[in-house]
Amino acid sequence: MLAPVSYEGEGFIQLANFPRLSAEAASVNPEDGFDCQILSWHQDDRPLMGVKIRGRMAIACQRCLDPLGLELEIHKTYVFLKTEGEADEFPLDRDDEEAMVASIHFNLLEAIEDEILLELPHAPKHPVGQCQLRSLEADLEKPNPFKILKNLKK
Ligand SMILES: [Zn+2]
Repeated sequence: MLAPVSYEGEGFIQLANFPRLSAEAASVNPEDGFDCQILSWHQDDRPLMGVKIRGRMAIACQRCLDPLGLELEIHKTYVFLKTEGEADEFPLDRDDEEAMVASIHFNLLEAIEDEILLELPHAPKHPVGQCQLRSLEADLEKPNPFKILKNLKK
């Protein structure tokens, strides 16, 4: 049918190539990025595209703000349909399937970035014991300014 079917192959895409992901990252190192495998085929006369994404990046821990390494593995299958209506009504029997309207504007890099963004935890935290809570604890040990004020008044 259209352009989407012409994508095929595999390769490593550096994190720096994903602007929205880079914005979420705690740091962008050359070794951060994703191995992407793209396969396309036809089923019931419809073009399908399977994407396998595997890789790593670091995001900030919401507790201590130190980088937290994330390993991600995502499998996704896009089913390309002719119209928006067809896509809305398409019965998806699996979570990793998504109906898309076939379009020459389909941007594979952006689609992959969307999938990874969806997989990022909303409030990432180090496992207990590995979190650098020092700064928070230090804050708690600081005397409460209101308490000092109260003591001065006495
Ligand atoms: Zn932490």
